[in-house]
Amino acid sequence: MAEAEKIHVFWEEGMLKHNTGRGVFDSGEDPGFLDVLENHPENGDRIRNMVSILKRGPISPSISWHHGSPASLPQLLSFHSPEYIKELEEADKAGGKMLCGGTFLNPGSWEAALLAAGTTLSAMRFILDGHGNIAYALVRPPGHHAQPTQADGYCFLNNAGLAVQFALDSGCSKVAVIDIDVHYGNGTAEGFYRSNRVLTTSLHMNHGSWGPSHPQKGTIDELGEGEGFGYNINIPLPNGSGDRGYAYAVKELVVPAIRKFEPDMIVLVVGQDSSAFDPNGRQCLTMDGYRALGRIVRGLANMHCNGQLLIVQEGGYHITYAAYCLHATLEGVLNVQLPLLSDPIAYYPEDADFTKKVVDRMKKYYTINVPFLREIIKEQN
Ligand SMILES: [Zn+2]
Repeated sequence: MAEAEKIHVFWEEGMLKHNTGRGVFDSGEDPGFLDVLENHPENGDRIRNMVSILKRGPISPSISWHHGSPASLPQLLSFHSPEYIKELEEADKAGGKMLCGGTFLNPGSWEAALLAAGTTLSAMRFILDGHGNIAYALVRPPGHHAQPTQADGYCFLNNAGLAVQFALDSGCSKVAVIDIDVHYGNGTAEGFYRSNRVLTTSLHMNHGSWGPSHPQKGTIDELGEGEGFGYNINIPLPNGSGDRGYAYAVKELVVPAIRKFEPDMIVLVVGQDSSAFDPNGRQCLTMDGYRALGRIVRGLANMHCNGQLLIVQEGGYHITYAAYCLHATLEGVLNVQLPLLSDPIAYYPEDADFTKKVVDRMKKYYTINVPFLREIIKEQN
């Protein structure tokens, strides 16, 4: 009998050294009149639970654990500018710096960021070297908002972007990114905005630009530039979109785009902050929704990439439910027939009809405006 399929998880304890502090939510501030402050949402506890659920939850027999190592300077420079990396190194030497709202590089943070980037690269290398098909980089600090030249939204180094570039440099001709974190994967999009070798797709809430660190809007008219025109597909979903709305958006927009693009590697960028209970998002995914998305993406990887799939951890800030949603996503990726773990808290209503209307309008827009999507979306109708 063939050996049971495994998900190869790459993880390093040192990433817990990034201490984001306490305050009013992610502000880092103590106003002086609150008796109880809270941990910054991007804290080690959320990741500890993701590690433990994969170690002790029902999926644990399908998990194989691996180490990573810090990224090197030449690796960082494959995606980031030398000036920006110097700024981060100097911030670390100076004992810390707030790089933008909510984004604190504290003592220990730089070491953790280098480990997160290097561990993601190790996961990609594992796939490229043919040691396994499915690898998951369980990393923090997150990366998908980090642009080539600046930090943003709790992110310093773009872990997924570095892995994509590494795949291209290692002989992959085309890589597709599917980002289901509730925020726009603006850093990854920016890094490959002028490339037709990387198709970046992002499903997010319609949050728009949030200041100078995040000038991108995440709207449908940000299509890429030059050779990259049409190779950035933004799918801003209305607040309250849930399991059915997300599945519809992925089936109607992401699946046809990936089919037409025919990547030889898929990178699934996951954030559980699109769950119904996340403090940082206003979407309504439950474990069922994540499971379905995991299954769809696995199907795409099987169809186009010999099953090769890198999964990269981003946001997801509900201390317990984020771990459950991760578990469900990986169940979907493994294509398990019946749920291994039931949902302890799914009860919030979603508005699927409105989301479907919005997705249909986006479909029309992309049919008209994206040359490589014209036929395929028409074929579907
Ligand atoms: Zn997020």
